[in-house]
Amino acid sequence: MEQLKTATTDKTTFVLDHRVSSIQKQDSGFIVDDEFWVKSIIIATGTGSFAPKKFPLQLDTGAAARIHYFIKNPQEFANQTIGVFGGGDSALDWALELAEQTGTQVGLIHRRNEFRGLESSAQRLQNLKNVEVLTPYLPKSIAIRNNQLDVGLKLVGSTELIHKHFDQIIVAYGFRSNNSFVKKWGVNISNSQIAVTSEMKTSVPGIYAIGDAVTYPGRVPVIGLGFGEAQIAVTAIMRSLFPEKTLTIHSTSI
Ligand SMILES: Cc1cc2nc3c(=O)[nH]c(=O)nc-3n(C[C@H](O)[C@H](O)[C@H](O)COP(=O)(O)OP(=O)(O)OC[C@H]3O[C@@H](n4cnc5c(N)ncnc54)[C@H](O)[C@@H]3O)c2cc1C
Repeated sequence: MEQLKTATTDKTTFVLDHRVSSIQKQDSGFIVDDEFWVKSIIIATGTGSFAPKKFPLQLDTGAAARIHYFIKNPQEFANQTIGVFGGGDSALDWALELAEQTGTQVGLIHRRNEFRGLESSAQRLQNLKNVEVLTPYLPKSIAIRNNQLDVGLKLVGSTELIHKHFDQIIVAYGFRSNNSFVKKWGVNISNSQIAVTSEMKTSVPGIYAIGDAVTYPGRVPVIGLGFGEAQIAVTAIMRSLFPEKTLTIHSTSI
């Protein structure tokens, strides 16, 4: 069995910094990411993987290439006209950084008049000559014209539509997390969480789930419960793999 980035003890193989993306069921176990063969699986992905909330308009390839959710180097936006969408601290921080450090012309667009981010940051932005604060506006259309993004912005609560032109856009609408990716492994979910039995079994025999990833009546998202569920899942797996063995259920060394 070939392994990626492993640190192995006599009992356990650790695979760190590895995002699991594929699980294929075999007769006697599972193949994980085409590299690891295992008999049973415990999913403990918490509230799931995080992804940025997307810009809410249909984008063609050209426009999509100019929309950013992460910024590695602010200097890449220097001396351009940048639209920053959002009202939280990330939106305010990026607008400030670009306007103050890189001389960028910034349009800050938010759907409410009040910002969720620090009031002092919002105030600083209002006082900068190279920042235009546009509230309360929502993006309604987008197209590339004259090598710029032409964005239609609708004034909330009215039919007024204005057009602003940006070289690029930064979207800071926050992040969404969910566990729906487990559906491709055949695991059933309920309200973005994994449905389990009282033995932490999922809908796929051999795949168990624990922690904040799971749901059942009365569950609360706390650390202690996850530890207990791990014990339940391991016991259920041991009983299934070694039905002939007598397990010392109360021992923490199972
Ligand atoms: C602000 C805050 C305060 C809290 N305070 C408390 C407290 O005081 N007491 C308490 O008991 N609880 C508290 N909690 C809740 C507690 O943090 C959670 O119940 C606990 O962390 C859940 O543990 P978990 O292992 O299920 O998930 P997590 O701790 O979320 O771990 C899930 C891990 O899975 C990884 N992962 C996700 N998808 C994949 C994938 N495809 N492949 C590989 N890895 C993946 C993630 O990167 C993450 O490392 C708090 C939570 C928050 C947000």
